Amino acid sequence: MSIEVQHISKHFGTFAALKDVSLNVATGELVALLGPSGSGKTTLLRIISGLEAPDQGSGQILLHDEDVTSRHVGTRRVGFVFQHYALFRHMTVFKNIAFGLQVRPRKLRPARHQIREKVHELLKLVQLDWLADRYPAQLSGGQRQRIALARALAIEPKVLLLDEPFGALDAKTRQELRRWLRRLHSELHVTSVLVTHDQEEALEVADRVVITNAGRIEQIGTPEEVFHHPANEFVMNFVGHVNVFHGRVEGDRAFLGPLEVEYSGQRHATTKPARGLIRPYDIDIETQANGKPGFKATVRHINAAGPQVKIDLTTDSGEPVHVELPHERFQALGLVVGKTVFVNPREINVFVDDERR
Ligand code: ATP
Repeated sequence: MSIEVQHISKHFGTFAALKDVSLNVATGELVALLGPSGSGKTTLLRIISGLEAPDQGSGQILLHDEDVTSRHVGTRRVGFVFQHYALFRHMTVFKNIAFGLQVRPRKLRPARHQIREKVHELLKLVQLDWLADRYPAQLSGGQRQRIALARALAIEPKVLLLDEPFGALDAKTRQELRRWLRRLHSELHVTSVLVTHDQEEALEVADRVVITNAGRIEQIGTPEEVFHHPANEFVMNFVGHVNVFHGRVEGDRAFLGPLEVEYSGQRHATTKPARGLIRPYDIDIETQANGKPGFKATVRHINAAGPQVKIDLTTDSGEPVHVELPHERFQALGLVVGKTVFVNPREINVFVDDERR
């Protein structure tokens, strides 16, 4: 079941929450909507589901080539999982999962033994078959979300929509659950859209990531594409950590904070405001000046916990710089807080005002 979002706009009063958004999700794909708070992710998900209607005459939603724009949520066969546990508190796990099947009209309702089999099958799938008789209050947060997913899957949805499903959980549980979701998706291949503002989650789980910003889509690509080949400054800044140096380009030179480097991009007749974006791992540190483009800085803080050593520095004019070095390199340099060093960026992405990329 594919999803096609064609030229969808949505206003709340005079506020434009979605501005001419188009997106295709292929059958069996897991796509993540990733963007800052208020960028329109949930609104888009709700419009796909039918819980919200797009602006009159603004565009169409197609599920498997069928125009469902004016179809009611109940007839679209979508499964939902939300951040806040939507389980019925007064029902056991078994009854929660069976609910979607039991409320079907008599003609469409499976027989009692079929429902029982289906629920146990789903409980096995989410690896919680020993919890059938518990009530939601007797489950951990992670277990509740797995049950919520089993419940969403019970109706055999054509499309699965997940809105920050792991948002309320601790970091470790989130990490476990997203790996589990990835494995589950590989087994089931239900076309899925996941809303998240957690970039790690989006990059780890999704086949493709849609970067949203202020009601528009900035880029659609594989996790690798959006991370390593950002379409624009917003995407580079939002996905992964960056150092941002403000400055200008003049002819073939760029003056960016403490850096002066060659600029090989589009030529401009006048000086243009620009920003240089540098990933923390694209920077090397030397203890002595070596003639390469760079600048002097002072080590302010060192955090050696983790796969890379994270080093906070400040330039002579007080700008913060964040660098990540492999442990071996860090050891070889003998860095300590207070030491003056030379900072050499290996790769700088220069973004110039009014320039199309
Ligand atoms: P978050 O990550 O915080 O959930 P989001 O990207 O999912 O954000 P949406 O919930 O889609 O963003 O909201 C987009 C914008 O539309 C926000 O500015 C929000 O305040 C506004 N909005 C959403 N629903 C309504 C509503 N029912 N009435 C008025 N404004 C709304």
